Amino acid sequence: MARPSQLTLCSFCGKSHAEVKKLIQGPGVYICDSCIIVCKNVLDKELKTETRKSTLKLKVPKPSEIKQHLDLHCIGQDEAKRTLAVAVHNHYKRLQQESLANTGGEAGEMAPTPHGEVEIEKSNILLIGPTGSGKTLLARSLAKILEVPFAIADATTLTEAGYVGEDVENIILRLLQNSDYDVKRAQMGIVYIDEIDKIARKTENVSITRDVSGEGVQQALLKILEGTVCNVPPQGGRKHPQQEYIRVDTANVLFICGGAFVGLDKIVQRRVGNRVMGFSAADKNHHYATLEKNEIMQQVEPEDLLMYGFIPEFIGRLPMVTVLGELSEDQLVSILTEPKNALIKQYAKLIGIEGVHLDFQSEALRELAVQAVKKGTGARALRGLLEKLMLDVMYDIPGQPDVSSVTITRAAVLDEEKPAIQRKNAQAAAAA
Ligand code: ADP
Repeated sequence: MARPSQLTLCSFCGKSHAEVKKLIQGPGVYICDSCIIVCKNVLDKELKTETRKSTLKLKVPKPSEIKQHLDLHCIGQDEAKRTLAVAVHNHYKRLQQESLANTGGEAGEMAPTPHGEVEIEKSNILLIGPTGSGKTLLARSLAKILEVPFAIADATTLTEAGYVGEDVENIILRLLQNSDYDVKRAQMGIVYIDEIDKIARKTENVSITRDVSGEGVQQALLKILEGTVCNVPPQGGRKHPQQEYIRVDTANVLFICGGAFVGLDKIVQRRVGNRVMGFSAADKNHHYATLEKNEIMQQVEPEDLLMYGFIPEFIGRLPMVTVLGELSEDQLVSILTEPKNALIKQYAKLIGIEGVHLDFQSEALRELAVQAVKKGTGARALRGLLEKLMLDVMYDIPGQPDVSSVTITRAAVLDEEKPAIQRKNAQAAAAA
């Protein structure tokens, strides 16, 4: 074959051999280096979307598999995990069915339900549980298992359209951003709306002129929860008429709403009466009070949410309600060490990079849990406590190559002594 001369042109972009770095010859055609790069990018992008589509089509794990996966990350909360596993399995099975029914269509494009056929309705989820009990963690883990886009929103920042604050469309924008602006993938995502209890209608202290964080926001959210086509401003912020919008249908987005619902137990208790559990007055320490509260909350009904300040339509859009209990001292100890990314494992790994072994005595773990319970913010308190405890160690260790291990004792947690440091030289001397 003749070598390309300086006058040979790329068959794709038409540039001459002299204008490009490399010109590769095929049977009767030439392609230059820039065109090869362009082709590669096109292929990479398309193949990536193909893989995503096929995963979305195929991957609907069984409820037991979902639960097992949640167990790896989240301690306790068995009832909530089982409910979530079933709800999420059904949600994506329904999506898969509709997708398959849409012959020739792509995942995410829903076919209309044929006349007379049973339509499985979307079942958004309400998680009720105290701060730091694992609500966000569960929602996030679910999205990870299913490999779908995930977004978190805070209900307290939302307002009715027209008021200063965040429009509900911004929630969908976040989902879109987290799916690289792939609308079809975003439409199958999971949105977690935190602090949903804060938009309950308040009977007292309601502003007369406007209701920026109550019923109006419930109304605004209602639309996206039940499914609507949102016009999402791609850059976020306030809408204006000249702007171009991306249209996202929320009909198949799974919404998980969560909140602590402080005071809801009183409403439930009033309804069910006082004979909830038979603890004697002597038993009423913190542990039993927590158990009793968890037990009461398990009996929550839609009418209690109505009393709490939610409008019936809103409650109707969150048909799956599940309750997470306050974490016990034992569970907090487990949280420190057992989950896949447990905090202690993370510190051990970090410090292990320096060749140092980290040892937490069991009394130290227990003391951390005791202190966390006192703070009343569930597992959330653990991180802060550990960061404070480990700061000096993490500061000092990198400069000390002779340290072989660090032991954290209960006294160290109580700030009565420094963490015990063992040195290689001392070990060698002892062995000699
Ligand atoms: P919330 O219920 O307030 O949404 P989060 O899920 O945000 O709580 O939890 C706060 C922190 O505590 C996270 O770092 C999370 O990993 C940890 N955590 C909370 N609950 C659990 C749990 N049940 N198991 C393991 N870690 C937990």
